[in-house]
Formats: sequence, structure tokens, C-alpha cells
Amino acid sequence: MIAEIVAVGTELLMGQVLNTDAQYIARRLSELGVTLHRQIVVGDNPARIREAIHDAVGRADVVITTGGLGPTADDITKETCAEALGLPMERRPEAEAQVRAWFARNNRAMTENNLRQADFAKGAIILENHNGTAPACIVEKDGKAVINLPGPPRELIPLFVEHVAPYLAGRSGAVIVSRYLRVFGMGESTVESRLHDLMENCQNPTVAPYCSTGEVQLRLTVRAAREDEAAPLLDPLEKEIRARLGGVIYAATDNPEYSMEQALVEALCAAQKTLVTAESCTGGMIASKIVNVPGASDALLEGCVTYSNAAKMRTLGVKAETLEKHDAVSRETALEMADGARRRADADYAVSVTGLAGPGGGTPEKPVGTVWLGLATREGADAKELRLTGNRERIRTLAALHAMHWVLETVRNDAR
Ligand code: ATP
Repeated sequence: MIAEIVAVGTELLMGQVLNTDAQYIARRLSELGVTLHRQIVVGDNPARIREAIHDAVGRADVVITTGGLGPTADDITKETCAEALGLPMERRPEAEAQVRAWFARNNRAMTENNLRQADFAKGAIILENHNGTAPACIVEKDGKAVINLPGPPRELIPLFVEHVAPYLAGRSGAVIVSRYLRVFGMGESTVESRLHDLMENCQNPTVAPYCSTGEVQLRLTVRAAREDEAAPLLDPLEKEIRARLGGVIYAATDNPEYSMEQALVEALCAAQKTLVTAESCTGGMIASKIVNVPGASDALLEGCVTYSNAAKMRTLGVKAETLEKHDAVSRETALEMADGARRRADADYAVSVTGLAGPGGGTPEKPVGTVWLGLATREGADAKELRLTGNRERIRTLAALHAMHWVLETVRNDAR
């Protein structure tokens, strides 16, 4: 199945708005096993929109358009697609009801213009848009399909997930299943060099890397005739990847948004253990990430943001001599922060972070990016030094990830 994307909007053409819809759709299409041949961006010019859509419909099996579904006269995407497929337009009563209901629900006055949004190519499958006024649609003719989606990503993404992905999977007569392996503690280039041949040669399943700050995510995707045939195809590839990467995979999940904090909360909850955080340079980032996870209240007791030396002493009981003799960014301070926090909250684990996020404040012995982590348990405490690179934001994010990962590994080891 060959697809093309036609993104309509002068704001995209002029670079005022980044074409994130096309990026999103392209990624999903590759997961669905649909081959994308072109992405086209065209401004709000009727003649050029017509040309772009007619050409795309002539070449591809599936054309996905974004934008230009609005109520004004220059929103001509749907009409042009109908014309390219040789279909007349018709007003659809169920879509008219949806448009009217949307305005009533949002207490907004409706103009006659808005009813243009209830006009579709004859026989179109209408996709109700819960986040905007313009319903989307799928139009089929002679084995081809044209899918018209609204421009705003907050409207487009739910429509894609709810309707378009299942439609495309159904059309290809297969199910597409992805498994995500989350890697921490190994750089992108090392991961790629160890898996290079698998990334190049594996066809079904495929393996592809995605990188974010400090982490690499490997997506394993398989096409199978049925859902239950997917796991036996994915398992051997996962096993091979684990053998090549060692212990750096901290999670294997079917959720592409899975995170370190989610793994940590799950591990703490499974072990029925509690955590307290003592943060300096991360400024509450760790606690905030953990609180983003539903169910975090069973695991996180308290988060202390102790930025100044006075706060480290007052809140966590760090000794003045320690700060004077060793400095705030030191093994000794990290240990006392973790220990003080753990005792204060009577938690099973405490993690502390103290470091130089920059840009100023570095010295040759202690450059920007020097971060000390402390981890206290009921048995004792330990500390370790990180030398991180990047800007302030990156250093803080990496420090938070390292801290959470250390706790995660410790909780998992303790539970064994
Ligand atoms: P509406 O129902 O809001 O009128 P529409 O389908 O007519 O939707 P447009 O008017 O083309 O959409 O675009 C509305 C806004 O959506 C744009 O100003 C832009 O902010 C965003 N948008 C449009 N296309 C894209 C895209 N391809 N990628 C990211 N954002 C986009």
C-alpha cells in the first residue's frame, strides 16, 4: 500500500508552523507497514491545492490530507479530493447534527458557513471530531482511499489513533504490533553499532531506534495475520537484543510513552516500598516526574527541594562542617542529604541530587556537569559521581534520570 501526505496551509509553507502532523503521520504509517512515498506541502492557493491533490490521488493508493477543513471558502481540501476521485459532494445530515451539537455544547453561535463542514464526497465515511468543529472523513473509490484530517494536531492525533490507524491496518489485512524496549546507560551510537545488522536486515519484525535525552527507545514492530501471532515473532528478536546490549534495557512494554518514572513507581509499588527525594540542582524535577505517574502516592512520601546550604542543613540535617569542608557538591553532602531525607520521612529509600547545572560556577576540579547522587536505604547509604555534559536543562534532566534509574535498579535488586 503506497501513501502520500498532502499538508495544506500557507503557514506551513512559510515556516511559521512546523509540519508536525506530517511527522506524526509518517511515523504511524511506518508502524502500520504502509509505505510513504511523498510528503507535499501546499499553501492555501486553490489551483495549487488542486494540482497537488490530483497528482497525489493519481499516484498513491492512500492520500492523507491535513488542514483546510474549516468553514471558509478557501478551505477546499474536501471538495478537491472529491473532484479528484470523480465524486459529487452531498450534505450529510448526521454530520450537520454533529456540527450543530458542537456549537451548542460549546455555547458558540453558528453561522451558515459552518454547515459547509457537513458536506462530503458521496459515500464518505465520516469521522466524528471530538476536539473541533470539522468532522474528518475517509473517501474510497476504485481501490483508492483519501483521508481528510483537520490541521490542528490536538484534533488530528486522536482522529488518527481512533479511526485512521485501525482503518489502514484493516485495509492491509494484517495487525501491526509494536514492542518498545527502553534503554538507559548506553549511548545511541553504541546501541546502533551493536544492533546495526538487525536494524538493516530484519524485515518482519523490524527494529528502529528513537533517542531522547539520556535514553534510547527501540521499537520492534511486526506484521502478523492475528494479534496472538505477534508475540512469538517478537520474542526471539527481543532475546537477541538483550544478549547484545546486556543489562541496559530497563523496560519492555507495548506503551510508546512508557517512562523511567513509571518503571520506578511500578517497582516501588510491587515491592511495597516508599521513597523520598532530596533535590538540589534538579529542583523538584524527580518528584514532579514521579507524581506524573498515576498511583505515585503509594510510593512517594515526600519531596524536598533544598537549594541553599541553609535549606540542606535545616530540612535534611546536613552538617555545617560537611558543607564547609567538602562543599555542597560532594560525596559527603549527597550522602547526608539522602540519609537525612530518609530518616525525616521514615522511607525505605531516599535519593539525593546535588550538582553544578551551569552555565556558571564550574572550576577545573569541579566542572559544570559534576553531579553527586546519594542513595540511602534502611541498611546504609552510598553516593556516586556523574560527569554530565550539555546545557543546564540537559544536565538537570540527565541527573534526574540517573537518580531514578539508580533507585529502580536498587529496588529491583533488593526484591530479588
Ligand atoms: P479548523 O477546524 O481549525 O479550521 P483546519 O483543518 O481548517 O482546521 P487549518 O486551518 O489548515 O486547519 O489549520 C489550523 C491550525 O492547525 C494551523 O494554524 C496550525 O496551527 C495547525 N496546523 C495545521 N496544519 C498543521 C500541520 N501540518 N502540522 C502542525 N500543525 C498544523
